[in-house]
Amino acid sequence: MVKVRQIVATTDAERLVCQAARGDYMKEAPWNESFEEVMGPIKGADIEEKIGNLLRRLISAGHWGPFEHPTITFGIEGMSRVTLAQLTRHRLASFDIQSGRYVSLRTLTPKDFVWPPSYREEAVVSREAGRREITLSPSEREKLIEGLFAQMIEAYRTLVDGGVPREDARYLFPLATPVNGTMTVNARSLMHIIAIRSFGDAQWEIRDLVTQMLELAKEWMPVTFSTFEKQMKTRDVIAP
Ligand SMILES: Cc1cc2nc3c(=O)[nH]c(=O)nc-3n(C[C@H](O)[C@H](O)[C@H](O)COP(=O)(O)OP(=O)(O)OC[C@H]3O[C@@H](n4cnc5c(N)ncnc54)[C@H](O)[C@@H]3O)c2cc1C
Repeated sequence: MVKVRQIVATTDAERLVCQAARGDYMKEAPWNESFEEVMGPIKGADIEEKIGNLLRRLISAGHWGPFEHPTITFGIEGMSRVTLAQLTRHRLASFDIQSGRYVSLRTLTPKDFVWPPSYREEAVVSREAGRREITLSPSEREKLIEGLFAQMIEAYRTLVDGGVPREDARYLFPLATPVNGTMTVNARSLMHIIAIRSFGDAQWEIRDLVTQMLELAKEWMPVTFSTFEKQMKTRDVIAP
């Protein structure tokens, strides 16, 4: 199963958003003033309340520019090639992806591949058709798929040992082959990716991946991503 962790992120990210946004409306350069002065005209009993009020106002107004300044870097482990293809369609994020040319795949085992739930669960639910009639038992499916994965690993080893370059031998492997990657993205683009990859039409693995990203983002920028999550759930968000 895909696992996401935070590697690094802009510190004081929500203050940075507020400073940039306030700078749009100030005569003075906001970085030459104290943060308290910069936030002076914003309503709120204390600085935290002012930050919350300004961030919520920016989100509800669709004033997304200031959210492009903070960035977060994720480490993503064990995603399938399916999800890699979907995720890297997002052009406003930066990626480094583990290379199948330079990294040997010979130590893979069938368990290391990404197994969709429908490969071994009793009930199979499909996105288009809902709950489906299934005639293959979970153990029949598991045996079939495990056997295929094992054959592919064996064939890869035989080819590489027989002199075929790793970069060519890897063509044998399926979309379920796991891959690791590093992804850096700004807060605005992350909201966009989470919004369009969270709903029914998105596939289970990328939904799982962006759900993990959202949890990490809520720790990183609590007001921003909690407000965004609430609006997203009610579909009341202007797309970032
Ligand atoms: C449920 C689902 C099914 C999909 N099915 C398919 C499919 O069958 N085949 C397929 O090829 N893709 C498919 N996609 C991918 C989809 O079409 C997008 O390419 C992908 O989601 C990237 O998102 P984005 O276009 O919003 O761009 P991002 O790269 O995330 O960019 C963010 C935003 O920047 C702006 N932007 C970026 N680049 C441009 C540009 N060149 N011109 C204008 N505006 C730009 C747009 O406003 C865009 O929304 C699917 C996506 C989803 C969620």
